[in-house]
Order: sequence, then structure tokens, then C-alpha cells
Amino acid sequence: MRIWLPVAGKALAGCVCLLAGTVSCRRPAAPAPQALKPLNVVVITIDTLRPDHLGCYGYTRIETPTLDGIAQSGVLFENAVSQTPLTPPSHASIFTGLNPPSHKVRDTGGFILSASTPTLARHLQDRGWDTAAFVSSMVLKKRSGFDQGFAVYDDIMPRPGNSDQFLEDAVRRAGDTVDRAVHWLDGRDGSKPFFLWVHLYDPHVPYNLSPPFSERYKDRPYDGEIAYSDAELARLMQSVHRKSPPEKLLVAVLSDHGESLGEHGEYTHGVFLYDSTLRIAFLVSGAGVPAGMRIKAQARTIDAMPTILALLGGSAGGVEGTSLVPLFSGKDVDTEVSYAETLYPKINLGWAELRGIRTPHWKYIRAPKPELYDLLKDPMETENVAAAHPDEVLKMEAWLAAANRANGPETVRTNTMDERTQAQLKSLGYLSGTGRSYGLGGQGADPKDRLPVLKLIEAAELRGSGLSPRRRIEALQEAVRLDPSNPVLYHLLGPMLETGGRYAEATALYRAALAQGIVDGRLHSRIADLLVRDGHQGEAIPEYEISTRLNPGDTASQVNLATAYMQSGRAADADRVFQAVIAIDPSNAAAQNGLGVLAIQRQDGTAARAYFEKAVELDPNLAEAHLNLGLLYKMAGDRERARASFERFLAKAPPRQYKDVIPKVRAELDALH
Ligand SMILES: [Zn+2]
Repeated sequence: MRIWLPVAGKALAGCVCLLAGTVSCRRPAAPAPQALKPLNVVVITIDTLRPDHLGCYGYTRIETPTLDGIAQSGVLFENAVSQTPLTPPSHASIFTGLNPPSHKVRDTGGFILSASTPTLARHLQDRGWDTAAFVSSMVLKKRSGFDQGFAVYDDIMPRPGNSDQFLEDAVRRAGDTVDRAVHWLDGRDGSKPFFLWVHLYDPHVPYNLSPPFSERYKDRPYDGEIAYSDAELARLMQSVHRKSPPEKLLVAVLSDHGESLGEHGEYTHGVFLYDSTLRIAFLVSGAGVPAGMRIKAQARTIDAMPTILALLGGSAGGVEGTSLVPLFSGKDVDTEVSYAETLYPKINLGWAELRGIRTPHWKYIRAPKPELYDLLKDPMETENVAAAHPDEVLKMEAWLAAANRANGPETVRTNTMDERTQAQLKSLGYLSGTGRSYGLGGQGADPKDRLPVLKLIEAAELRGSGLSPRRRIEALQEAVRLDPSNPVLYHLLGPMLETGGRYAEATALYRAALAQGIVDGRLHSRIADLLVRDGHQGEAIPEYEISTRLNPGDTASQVNLATAYMQSGRAADADRVFQAVIAIDPSNAAAQNGLGVLAIQRQDGTAARAYFEKAVELDPNLAEAHLNLGLLYKMAGDRERARASFERFLAKAPPRQYKDVIPKVRAELDALH
């Protein structure tokens, strides 16, 4: 039996943690630390949480006793808003006090919070706080840059039960995240004040309820996820109270954005800037905060960090938000102008980006067809009154110009990301742009004119739509007909065709996207993967080469390129690319396995064994490496280790993928007994 080769395809790629651990060492020297009150600080962010679905904001059809209790013991901001309906950019505003053009995290995926941008965690860690974060979505993993200032940054997502697509799931349930935060709290001895950030993701689609919430909220899964999150927060708060006396504790709760739930033709969030996704829950409770106060003044995510620092007796320099503490004693604060933006339509859908200004009276949205709403008369934003109020529009435009710090037309550039990260993002309902630049001049289709396309995407993507796979495909095919230059449609439809075994149609679709002028390495890597599937390794090579050039962070495609080189007899090229992958990502097990196979080809058994052992150490689920190692041990006469490796291979190998190999390995194993 011959040595098994690594097989091209994303299912076999190794772990990728490109920038983890590299961003925190280059920050500039901090100014001399201010003395702060040594209070324990807990910030809870709840993803996709509409305030009007909480008991404390007046909703009667839900039980949220934990959050209601925090509101009763502190301050509730009735008119709180986010700067953007996107998870990482909004969290960046919460923790830096800056609007997105200033902190530069502009979309979900493709942007990294710079280590030189001061965060609340950095501020507190520099002043002696014990800091820890527990996040529940891969979009906030370390590589997004949110870990700066945290001694503990727990972003380990669960391992999937039966999928070999990814090493980790894209999300973590509130129960898991709270368990880990409670475990960390239990280990505190009280010698230092702590700063704890807990992020819960459950109200985000897809819904995944268990009893009793699945029964109690059978027809309202969104509410069920909120009630479940609240119940888990009860456990967290019990643990917090065990570790901190009330006079030493400060708690803040914020949503990162809301959820449209069908309003304005949007089901989820990210495309529009209406209040259904911009309004957030915002509660503060603890030392220095009056109990039972409800505040009507507008509060923004950028005010969270200055408010927390003010309650600690300090101040935040260089921020765009302001402390809300004066409101506690009836004084005014300057929060009237709230900036908002979403680049999601531009980067992901090929439409115009949106920016906006919200005041307590007006909402202005800069779009190809500008919108102005009188929030006092029309809080649901149903009647565009821009034409009737040209002076207001001019004033809003001036505020927008001031909020956007670019000199002249703004251009943003995304960072490159690997395909696995992009696929995980997709499983969250997002698609991220690859490394390229986008001019933000407001060009492109007006998102509100593309509602039919949005409706088709939602029908195809949302689990609750009840459509068969065939009907989902038809919905997306119709969307491509309506909007052929929309990149997301090809990335949604192509994998559905592939899953249905319609490979030739998938290839034709990816080529049609290229013919539309869409520049994206993923289109080339999908074409290449399908060529490999049909046995055309040679033709796949130039496609992989383009893909890796457009998206150098895509190590999965580089592993596939190296494998195609190897199978075409180009050992030197294969070696160069595998080495490059390991340089980018030392933990890439598939590349270690590939280098092992190349070492076998040059009859260097010692080197091969070291590579295979490294591969299984990095990824114990990498079936090929166990098989290759078993064969090497057998050749060396080490029957015991050979047996153990073959058994591990049989335990790990997906049966369908290895249906021809598994019987042979069973026979090898029998011969060794
Ligand atoms: Zn979010």
C-alpha cells in the first residue's frame, strides 16, 4: 500500500491563526497612568438585542429578570443607539469611544482593531486591573485585535460534532461562555480589581433553542434566545456578586446592535441604518450610579468607555464619545449628534455604502436617494421628508463631513483572510471581502432599491423560510439575474450547487462572476477545487496561483496549490509553497503532512516521521497524517505504534471520503495483530 497523499480541498486544511498573538507587542508607550478607584468592572455585550424585546424596556411577552434587575438597581438609557449595525465595528466603538472611521474597524471580517488604538481593557490593565474576556463568536476572535489589554482572552469555540469542515464552530452558546467566565471568577483572590467582558451571541440567527425555552417561546425563537441569555446571565451575576461587594462593583450592559425582524424589508441587520437595528439596550449599575433612573437623553456606544472611566474617577483622552455621568445629576451632556454607518452593502453586496446622523429629533441617511425622518412624529421611519427639510439635510451633511476624518474621498482596504475564516463567517450569515480597496463615494445601487434581491437572499439563507434546497437555489438564481454584479450571490449559490452535486453549474457560475468583473480570489480557488475534483490538477494550478496572489492569507488554497504541484511531479514548487504556508501559519498541520510526503518521496524517513508527528500533534483529527505515520512505523518494524496510528486513522477518517482506503487499513491492522 502506498503512502497516502494530502488531498486538495478545504476539508483537509489545518488550523489558521494568522495574527493571533502578534498585535499586542507593538503599541506605543502609554502616558503616565491615572489613579482610578479600584472597582471591579463587568461589561456584558449581548449581540443582536433589540431593547424593545426586554422587560425593562416595556416588553411584556418575555421574562428577562436578570437584565430587569440590573436596570432597577441602576440607570437605563431609553434612547441608546449604536454607531453601526455590525458586530466587530460596534464592539470597537464600545471599547474605544471612537466612531468607525476613527477606529477603522469597518465591516465584519477583513478589518483588525489596531494595537495602537487605546481600549478600555488596555487602560485598565495598565493601571493594575486583572483583565479577562469571554466571547461567543468567531468574528471577535483574537485575530480581530480585540484581545489587546486582556490577560485572558477566551475565544475557544466548541468543536463540531460531525462536520470535518472546520476545527471549530463559529459560535459558542451562552451556557458555555458563562461557565468559563464563572470558572475564571472563581479563581480570583481579590488582591486586584478585575475587569471582565462577557459577550453573548445567542439572539443572532440561526436560532438553536433547547427546553424549556424552545417550548415557552415556540413561535418566537428570537425572544426565546434573549430569555435563555438572561437566564445564563443570572448565573454569571451570582458569581460576580460572590467575588465583589456591591460598593466595589460596576456593571454595564449593551447590545452591539438590534435586529430588523422584517421591518423595512430587512430580516436581520447590516444592510440599513434604521432604528430597528441601530437602537440598543444600555444599562449601567453599581458604585456611583443612582438606582432606578431612566434617562431620555440620547446615549451612544461611543459614550460607554468614557462613562465607565468617569465612574472610576478618571477620564478618556482622544475619544469621540463623552461621559454620561453628568446626566445622573440632571446635568446636560453633548450626545445630540450620533454618527452611523454600514459598509456591508458596499463590500459584500456591491451596492452603495450608507452613512447617517441621528439626533433625538431627526434621522438622516446619506444614500443615493437621501432619507430624512422626523423621529418625534414618525419613530418607525416610514415617511422620507428629505425634500421638505433641505436645511436639516444640509446641517446633517455638515455633521457627516466632520465625523468622517478622511481628507477628500475615503478609501478603505480590507485585510486578507483565509477561506476557512470566510466560510465560518458565511455560516454566521456574513461574507467578507478579500484584500482589496473600496472607494467610499456613495456609488452603487441604493440598498433600498434592491429589496427584491434582499428578499431572495433571505428566503434562500434563513432556516425558517421553509424552502427546499432546490427552491433556495432557484431563489438565488433569480437574484443573480436581477443583480449580476453582486459578489455575495455567487458565494451563496455556488456552494449550494456544489452540495447538490451540480459541479458543472457551480464552475459555470464562478466563471460568470469573473466575467462580471468581480475580483475575488475565492472564485478562482472554488474553480480550482472543482477542477481537482474532476482530476484536472494541471488546469487547477493557474487558478490556485491567481487565488493565492489575490488572497495571500488563504493558506487553505496554498495547501491545495502545493498538493496539485506535488501530484503534477513539481516537488520543488510544492516544497516552496508548503514552507510558505508554515511561515504564515506555523500551526498548519496539512502543510506539515505535505512536507512529510515530500520527504518520503526523497526517501528521508527521519524527516518524514518528524513532519507527520508534528502534523498529528497540531491536529489530532488529521486522518492522513495518522495513516502516513502508521505506514512509516510499520516500515521501521514498530508494530505497536503502527497499530495505534492505524487505529487513530480509522477513528478519525470520514467514511465516505476514505471509502477505498479504510478496508486496506483494516487489512493492515489485522496483519499486525
Ligand atoms: Zn452583532
